[in-house]
Amino acid sequence: MLVLPDLPYAYDALEPALSAETLRVHHDKHHAAYVEKANALAGKAGLGDRPLEDLILEARRRGDEALFNNAAQAWNHGFFWRSMSPQPTAPSGLLAAAIERAFGNLAGLKTRFVEEGSGHFGSGWVWLAATAAGLEVLSTHDADDLVTHGDTTPLIGCDLWEHAYYLDYKNDRPGFLNRWFDEAADWTFAERQFAAASGQGEVWRYPVAAEAQA
Ligand code: MN
Repeated sequence: MLVLPDLPYAYDALEPALSAETLRVHHDKHHAAYVEKANALAGKAGLGDRPLEDLILEARRRGDEALFNNAAQAWNHGFFWRSMSPQPTAPSGLLAAAIERAFGNLAGLKTRFVEEGSGHFGSGWVWLAATAAGLEVLSTHDADDLVTHGDTTPLIGCDLWEHAYYLDYKNDRPGFLNRWFDEAADWTFAERQFAAASGQGEVWRYPVAAEAQA
């Protein structure tokens, strides 16, 4: 059984970049619904005991689109909550050096991230990821995730579905992404993911029941 992990901060902790109302609906309704549907579909498919990462890969392998979409969305949202912090810090150390190599500086990364997310047609996700080629900004459509994109480790990810920003920004996706990058992105989490991508520590995995309470 998949769980709905608690938010790792209070509903109002990301204000004013994201309102408490947005986080409440997004977590308690949208994320909760993906978890609930994924559990129902996984149960029917005889996969109810799988960790979420395995479930996503198996759903993709079987071509079970409904299960894949709900399972991947559960994972993407768990990762999204962790990609944000009420006390964001600037990237440092090896991650800062990799950002300089790939984008010149943090402002260059921001330009690329906002451009990719704003230019992405329809629903999906924008990611900063570590690949064999170094750091890359990527976007994926709808529920598609990076779990099924081998050798690609997401460092941070932002939700591009309208429900992620519409209450606060209406149709202004670039405005949302600008502010998200400056005021919410958790570079400490990104640094841990980046270290794990090069073999230092473990990459983030979707919490299991015992770990789900923040
Ligand atoms: Mn969402």
